[in-house]
Amino acid sequence: MKKPLSELTDYIIKFLLHGNKHLADRVGYTADISEYHKYSVIITPSGFFDRADYGKPSTIPSLPLPKLGSTEILFGSPQVKRIDNKIIVEADIIASSFFLLSRYEEFVRADAIDMHGRADGRQMLQYRAGFIDRPIVDEYSDMLLGWLQATGHIVSLPSEGFGRIFLTHDIDSIGLYQDWRGVLRGVYNAIVKRNISLKTVLHSIVDEKSDPAYTFDWLIEEDRRVPYAEIVFFVKALRRSVGYDRPHYNINSRKFQKILSLLHSKQCAIGLHSSYEAFSNPSEIKREHTALCCSSEQSVRYQRSHYLTILPPDAPHHYVEAGITDDFTLGFAAVAGFRLGTCRPVRWINPATLAIEPITLHPLTIMDGSLSNSNYMNLNYEQAFEYSRKLIEEVRRHRGELVLLWHNTSVCQYSNGYQRTLYSDLIRFLTRTNG
Ligand SMILES: [Zn+2]
Repeated sequence: MKKPLSELTDYIIKFLLHGNKHLADRVGYTADISEYHKYSVIITPSGFFDRADYGKPSTIPSLPLPKLGSTEILFGSPQVKRIDNKIIVEADIIASSFFLLSRYEEFVRADAIDMHGRADGRQMLQYRAGFIDRPIVDEYSDMLLGWLQATGHIVSLPSEGFGRIFLTHDIDSIGLYQDWRGVLRGVYNAIVKRNISLKTVLHSIVDEKSDPAYTFDWLIEEDRRVPYAEIVFFVKALRRSVGYDRPHYNINSRKFQKILSLLHSKQCAIGLHSSYEAFSNPSEIKREHTALCCSSEQSVRYQRSHYLTILPPDAPHHYVEAGITDDFTLGFAAVAGFRLGTCRPVRWINPATLAIEPITLHPLTIMDGSLSNSNYMNLNYEQAFEYSRKLIEEVRRHRGELVLLWHNTSVCQYSNGYQRTLYSDLIRFLTRTNG
């Protein structure tokens, strides 16, 4: 059953105004002229929420989108009128924000799901319309603040800088040679391909710190160069039989407990890396969460899904019931950028019921593999650095949260790829631009 629309629109207006309730009271979302006297800025509803085909693909805006200034408008028309001391806006930035913040398109388009059951970022409006690299909901924020300023309100515009920085790492595997499959692969590579020494492979079996993917100390050292950054490691909690959840590791093993002690001693937070299997069997999330809390002897509130297979936008209760309050999954695997249209933390909005759920979404800005994977963006080092720099500067411009995801396995010392160098260079870039 749908919640009253006003609860949702009040939340979105307040979100656009960075939580300023006083200013939010001056913004109306109405076509009723008799109510105009209450407000300084009136946004005219486009009718999106009342459409008979709400929830159907026919409601997705067609391209090209009209623009207000340089910002795309999804619903309404790009007209702004001044009448006396009021500003009347026909660009429906409330429905446009809702469309992106609630993942509405993912909810209605069964045809845009990839082989892992995830929304394919390259089929979503953010990518098709060319604004995946800009947080346009935050651009709506700037517009709305500007209109309030133009009608005589004192508005303190957010200064540039990062609201928060999360440097995060998913532990898909604790090492390349820590299970029998990995050892066999390592021996084969050492003898046939000769791209690793047999000594390193064999030594890694007895001393996990010699494993090329044991990069935890290196990652933490890099991360700590960024003042105020919060370091989070996401941990798989249960052994799973599904192929995409391999390789397995046991969080209660001596090896993993040593890693947990390291993270604890360096003040790193841990979160649940919910499994691929849990995506099709979501009641498992609670079991995984309980196992991780028991093993780590701490309460765990953060989560990110393996393969970025987050549950659809109308299924938040599995996370709520597990005790998860903050999710860090929301980037597209196939393309880095602003999946939610914002770089600021926002509550989970259910497009089916219009409910605002008690889960905070921290938009994922960049995942390592999105940049380099040949099935995804397939960028070379220079392109990857330049694209990442642009996204980071967008976040900084809007005082958003920067969330980076680099895996311990992608920054291996002997890797042929560029991820170790790229991560190190981005950390150095951050230390110069932080503030
Ligand atoms: Zn993962």
